[in-house]
Amino acid sequence: MAILLATNFDAAEVAAWWPELQRALPGERLLRDRSELAASESIDIALVANPPPAALAGLPGLRLIQSLWAGVDRLLADASVPVDVPLARMVDPAMNEAMAETALWAVLSVQREFFAYARQQREPTWRQLPQRRADEITVAVLGLGQMGRTCAQRLAASGYRVLGWSRSETKVAGMTTFAGEAALVPVLDAADVVVNLLPLTDATRGLFNAQTFARMRRGAALVNLARGAHVVEADLLSALDGQQLAHAVLDVFTVEPLPATHPFWSHPRITVLPHVAALTDPRSAARIVARNVAALRAGRLLENLVDRSRGY
Ligand code: NAP
Repeated sequence: MAILLATNFDAAEVAAWWPELQRALPGERLLRDRSELAASESIDIALVANPPPAALAGLPGLRLIQSLWAGVDRLLADASVPVDVPLARMVDPAMNEAMAETALWAVLSVQREFFAYARQQREPTWRQLPQRRADEITVAVLGLGQMGRTCAQRLAASGYRVLGWSRSETKVAGMTTFAGEAALVPVLDAADVVVNLLPLTDATRGLFNAQTFARMRRGAALVNLARGAHVVEADLLSALDGQQLAHAVLDVFTVEPLPATHPFWSHPRITVLPHVAALTDPRSAARIVARNVAALRAGRLLENLVDRSRGY
């Protein structure tokens, strides 16, 4: 049996992943390419990260697709990914912590006006703005899964008033939580900063649109760390230009890399990050992959399986 690495990794990424996978999977036959497969062998596990088109087609022995990324929306949208093979996503506490750091930096920067000071430096302007305390800021965290829960807890521990929103009832110590579509508006209404950590599904695509922005507090900030397609980009620009929103921190975009001519790059009220809110760390992720490989080999339950009907 062999394990295929099916990714769009460049040479540097392969160089980072390959030794970690080899270390975590001793005794396993690892293939960087299907052409390395001998006639007597069969691929039963694919480790995937934005796999090239049809990379998983025609693998009759495939028994596990293990994503190296946390989000699986692209895999679920890819018709060449076999639907009858279990799909597991990456769940790594190290990634959750990285995401919590990004969320904390963004919320802190909004609270203490550090984005405004960065704008003032470019002008240049020397002006002191009112200083708000953390407990005067209400943060809504949309999505209370692996990432959202860790972010919400980190923000609450830093003194922010935190509201959480998820699909089903989810209790998180130290904050008020809400569930279901009808609860979204009151959550948005109450928030100075909205942090998006929802998966991209039919129910969440385009969630941030003109109507939603109109329901947010005037002068609120949006921090989108999940997927670009959650946001209707033209509506966001209108909300910022009309002063309905004060700032947006965007790590993810409908088209990535963000095209050089895109208006987000130069917008004074948008902070652009190149999809780095929480990178998968090969050092810890390879060990998590190895756990699922061992579970499959031993006939045990697989971890972090995606529910295809839910879309995450
Ligand atoms: P997760 O553990 O699957 O959690 C998803 C959360 O969203 C759950 O609380 C779920 O509610 C909630 N949810 C799903 N659909 C909803 C809906 N229609 N209405 C309300 N709540 C809904 O996901 P995760 O690991 O935290 O990751 C979240 C997303 O972050 C990923 O899908 C990915 O797109 C993104 N991400 C981004 C980066 C980056 O670097 N920018 C890195 C990793 C991940 P229930 O608990 O009720 O199911």
